[in-house]
Amino acid sequence: MQSYMNNIQKNNTFFELLHSEDRIRLGIIRNWLGQSLETPAFIPVATNASIRALDSISVKNLGINGIFVNTYHMHLSPGEEVVSELGGLHKFMNYEGVIFTDSGGFQAFSLGQAIIDGVGKIASVFSKEGKRRNKDQQKLAEITDDYIVFKSHIDGRIIKLTPEMSIQIQQKLGSDIMMVLDECTSPLASYEYCKNSMERSCRWALKCYNFFKENNIPNQYLYGIIQGGHYYDLRMKSTEFICSLDFDGIAVGGSLGTSKENIAEILSWIVDYLPQDKPRHLLGIGSIPEIFVAIEHGMDTFDCIIPTRYARTGTVFVLDSPNFVRDITSKYYKNKESKRYDLPIDENCQCYTCRNYSVSYLNHLFYVGEICVMTLLTIHNLHFYNTLLKNIRKSIKENKYFEFKQLFLNRMIEKLE
Ligand SMILES: [Zn+2]
Repeated sequence: MQSYMNNIQKNNTFFELLHSEDRIRLGIIRNWLGQSLETPAFIPVATNASIRALDSISVKNLGINGIFVNTYHMHLSPGEEVVSELGGLHKFMNYEGVIFTDSGGFQAFSLGQAIIDGVGKIASVFSKEGKRRNKDQQKLAEITDDYIVFKSHIDGRIIKLTPEMSIQIQQKLGSDIMMVLDECTSPLASYEYCKNSMERSCRWALKCYNFFKENNIPNQYLYGIIQGGHYYDLRMKSTEFICSLDFDGIAVGGSLGTSKENIAEILSWIVDYLPQDKPRHLLGIGSIPEIFVAIEHGMDTFDCIIPTRYARTGTVFVLDSPNFVRDITSKYYKNKESKRYDLPIDENCQCYTCRNYSVSYLNHLFYVGEICVMTLLTIHNLHFYNTLLKNIRKSIKENKYFEFKQLFLNRMIEKLE
């Protein structure tokens, strides 16, 4: 009875569902430092305890209240013992917002089969044809029934990661939200492979759950992960198993088919079986159309590298472009007139970059390889995402979500703030 009461109390303070209608939800996640993350929220990836090109103060100034750190990378450097001795991730990186950590399972995919298949979570992201094209490449991760074996990309050492170790590392890192160890299967994996993998991920989820309950650290929360690739029966079995355990939240992981349309289909199978009172995270998804799909299928948070990686290659998010993106390194800005292009990326954008710098200047910085341009473009792209999510939450509050979505997709929202 004691532990049951503790759980109720814990869940009440951790996540609050404020509104839910037609699967679209509004909520709030709180951490022990008193920081609040309003959902739905986009969670930028901070692989090595830093959103690439930004320091934690800049992240705070952008109003970003949640980040996603990669456990495997932190295990390699500086190591969870060092982070723990220095007071945990929040203190180590001087960031009080909600910190999610993954389990290391995704790296078994990204450093393993993804290299061989030449794919991402969605096959078409990197390979439209979904052809296996990198047969000569070497995998840096292998999966067995009991653990994942990695070959460190830093010094070549061999690392074995068991479900229990993954939880222990995340506990020492001191993140707010931890994930169970799982395998993210390739979008090109067969039914048979996905079935075996899903069953193994369920066994690992139980091991993580048991270890977490036996070694419970207050103020840390554990999400179970639903796997099963793009196969209906596998997703349903995984959903049933994960939801039968008292996790603090539910994540949806793994490959989500071979196109973004599949995401909607996969989520529609499972969403009505997820517990209402627990937060839900969609792993590794975050293009603009995918965000709308995720929200309409009951997801509360989602992480992705898109806005930050795009920024580092000179691609910025804007409203007046067919795909919401523009390449500011393009020749368009290098012709005679645009060298004197004295306008910001977006005249209506209120971000630090747009308030202070012209496209000509940013284009010049790229051309000569000045690294501060990555910081400036990352600030703009994260501001764009953050503002979009802020407006989406506002529209849900005002019962105008679909109206807002229509205006936004038709580029009829001139100003996002
Ligand atoms: Zn801007």
